[in-house]
Amino acid sequence: MSLLVSSRPARPSFHRLSVARVERLTPDSVAVWLEVPADLSDTFAFKPGQYVTLRHLIDEVDVRRDYSLCLSPGQAKSSGQIRIAASRVSGGAMSNWLIDDVAVGDQIPVLPPRGEFDCAIEPGQARQHVAIAAGSGVTPIISIVRSLLESPEDARVIAVLGNRSAEHVMFADEWDELERAHPDQLSVVHVFSRQVASEPNAEIAKPASGRLSAAVIEQVLKSSGAEVGPATQWYVSGPSAVVEAGIEVAGRADAGPGCVHQEIFHVADASEAAQEPANG
Ligand SMILES: Cc1cc2nc3c(=O)[nH]c(=O)nc-3n(C[C@H](O)[C@H](O)[C@H](O)COP(=O)(O)OP(=O)(O)OC[C@H]3O[C@@H](n4cnc5c(N)ncnc54)[C@H](O)[C@@H]3O)c2cc1C
Repeated sequence: MSLLVSSRPARPSFHRLSVARVERLTPDSVAVWLEVPADLSDTFAFKPGQYVTLRHLIDEVDVRRDYSLCLSPGQAKSSGQIRIAASRVSGGAMSNWLIDDVAVGDQIPVLPPRGEFDCAIEPGQARQHVAIAAGSGVTPIISIVRSLLESPEDARVIAVLGNRSAEHVMFADEWDELERAHPDQLSVVHVFSRQVASEPNAEIAKPASGRLSAAVIEQVLKSSGAEVGPATQWYVSGPSAVVEAGIEVAGRADAGPGCVHQEIFHVADASEAAQEPANG
């Protein structure tokens, strides 16, 4: 008799996590904190930038959607919780449920973290990092930026965040606090597509015409004085149009191999692209 031992890794399965807190971020987005029981802490350990998949039965349909973790691994370890955030998509099944119906104590089936959107931390190095995100694309970015600032790397980070207006900025207070806590390391530049930003962004907001384009990103970087080059690490996240713009800018700045990290949340079709501002 022969015993067949499969070398295939076990398929990840859903675990029911309890909602510990619901945080209103903007009129159209919430963050949901999920309790990770001690016996699942290894299963839900993650690298900054990774995402989890949530599952819920909506109108008898088994809906599964991905949400990036928006805290650092250090925060998750000390709190025993993970956090995701959802921004409302008009007519969207899961985002509307998360924003309107989810409450403390609800149990949500969640797949363990995965994904290749990552940042390599190099202790002792002083590298320039550029993070570009539009709308809810900011969720993995806040995880990456926090992790860099908590790390032994002497990272310099510029975060370029595109949104419709100031009231749509997810984690606005947290960005302010991070900037205040790390004034020599972090600079956050907001680009608003439907509001003339205050100086010095006013010039930048005009050419945006609703989108965080390659030209606008380049202009922001130029005005910031950030020295970008082949060793700069780039993180671009959000709808496909913004990710493409970020990749274009990184390419023109001679980004080295493996230095551009990207996460696409949604590929807009032609009709959506004509109507929706890519800045979320
Ligand atoms: C790796 C990854 C990580 C993600 N992380 C996050 C996150 O942290 N926070 C977050 O809010 N979202 C995130 N998303 C998007 C998320 O998975 C859902 O697609 C989004 O919440 C919409 O789901 P829904 O069920 O509400 O909409 P659906 O019912 O799937 O879609 C309704 C309509 O909206 C369109 N649509 C779908 N998704 C989007 C979108 N993102 N933007 C604009 N139109 C859309 C569809 O084409 C459809 O016409 C991520 C996606 C990926 C792939």
